[in-house]
Amino acid sequence: MKTSQASILKIMMAPTHLVFGVTTAFGLSHLGLLEASVPVFAAASLGSLLPDIDHPGSVVGRRLWLVSIPVSMIFGHRGITHSLIAVVAMSAAIAWQIGAQSWIVALAIGYLTHLIGDWLTPSGVPFLWPNRRKFSSPIGFKTNSMAEMVCLVAMIAADAYGLRS
Ligand SMILES: [Zn+2]
Repeated sequence: MKTSQASILKIMMAPTHLVFGVTTAFGLSHLGLLEASVPVFAAASLGSLLPDIDHPGSVVGRRLWLVSIPVSMIFGHRGITHSLIAVVAMSAAIAWQIGAQSWIVALAIGYLTHLIGDWLTPSGVPFLWPNRRKFSSPIGFKTNSMAEMVCLVAMIAADAYGLRS
């Protein structure tokens, strides 16, 4: 039990990923680069949680455990779903669907914000997977730290401000 709690604590909080994904989509829609609609924001939300499908204890992993358990057993947490392969696939999806299916673009953007978020934590991301070397930002923050809380509150405040204007 202790081990699973510890491994859950290592992943960035789902609300932070969610708010980062939605805030990015919201910002892009404010700039006229992304459609502002419920499917777009729902897709950005889902995308922001999707990479952690490789962790059965994550929000998305608990709901999609039938997919999550095998993915986690084969690739491990922060494996292929957090790699350059995933970045290229999501970037290709954006390039392919821009101006067409906004929700796919939003899903891919949400996904990429998740990887940026994990890159900002000391655990880092294995961009060169299957090489296990993890890359992390020199100016990041620990998961579940005060810094993460401050970022979360700042993004919510920015969203609230954006909704007013
Ligand atoms: Zn992750």
